[in-house]
Amino acid sequence: MSAKYQAEYIWIDGTEPTAKLRSKTRVLDVGDEPPIWGFDGSSTNQAPGEESDCVLRPVLSVPDPIRKGPNVLVMAEVLLTDMSPHPSNTRAACAAMAEKYADSDTWFGIEQEYTLFKGSRPLGFPDNGFPAPQGGYYCGVGADEVFGRPLVEKHMTACIDAELAISGINAEVMPGQWEFQIGPVPAPAAADHLWLARWLLYRLGEEYGISATLDPKPVPGDWNGAGAHTNFSTKAMRESYEPCVAAAEALGRRADLHIANYGHRIEERLTGLHETARYDEYFYGVSDRGASVRIPWQVEKDGKGYIEDRRPNANCDPYVVTRLIMETIHEE
Ligand code: ADP
Ligand code: MN
Ligand code: MN
Ligand code: MN
Repeated sequence: MSAKYQAEYIWIDGTEPTAKLRSKTRVLDVGDEPPIWGFDGSSTNQAPGEESDCVLRPVLSVPDPIRKGPNVLVMAEVLLTDMSPHPSNTRAACAAMAEKYADSDTWFGIEQEYTLFKGSRPLGFPDNGFPAPQGGYYCGVGADEVFGRPLVEKHMTACIDAELAISGINAEVMPGQWEFQIGPVPAPAAADHLWLARWLLYRLGEEYGISATLDPKPVPGDWNGAGAHTNFSTKAMRESYEPCVAAAEALGRRADLHIANYGHRIEERLTGLHETARYDEYFYGVSDRGASVRIPWQVEKDGKGYIEDRRPNANCDPYVVTRLIMETIHEE
């Protein structure tokens, strides 16, 4: 019998309004590449008709940091049996847009915020009532301020071992809330990496009895929501300032379209409070964390760099966000 390895196929389902991750394992002979595979779309909201077969096409294989050895995680896109993109497949359009504007060499850096829950309460929240108000938790240290660090550290190490482009982590403003950053890398890789990093977070949470949620407003009231600030730059933006401003202006000309595609329940998070601009207003500013789009002070000083779209929700689809940004800055 030949040596075997395990390939964990990971894909995005058809759940609305926010898609979920699914995965299953294929045992393969060492030396064989992960092949095209299939699954039962009637169990994932991906087969409305009588034909339930959906196709999984591998788009990226990385080392599996949990099973280790020769084992891999396989990001797959979902196709119909005629090999065209399934309606739920947002990657195909993202990849096509990146291809169309490949000469611009656009990079993305996405800050994924999330909240850790034990049962029905965020970590750090007492069984009844609320913890001390926000103020000391962001980038905090100490058992009274920081909750869930063992899982967060394990997740970061797993992302590095999986060769994902993770660039950092920090504790966030609300107790139990954290962030990791992916990038800067081009699309669709930035989104592939982000989806794989999300999967690793959920998967490692199983080992701690902790669930991670991308809910954009996990606790109503005076508690920060969770976003996915999307930083980006074209080659031209990395070389001079004027294209940075032009990109911020272009985003403003299609603000409603972006808001409608930046994640379910975005109105609950973009209230104008808690370091956000209202969902129905658009403005950009240097160093302004209350703006829709921020030009970092260093970028103004250097006269080149990148800008930050602060609007995407934590529960956004990064294939959609990166595709729309590329479309708008090139076509608006
Ligand atoms: P913040 O101050 O908003 O919390 P972070 O340090 O969390 O900023 O995230 C900044 C993000 O910007 C990182 O994901 C990083 O990869 C990304 N980034 C840095 N330079 C560029 C660039 N030239 N193009 C695109 N993204 C960039
Ligand atoms: Mn950040
Ligand atoms: Mn943050
Ligand atoms: Mn940010």
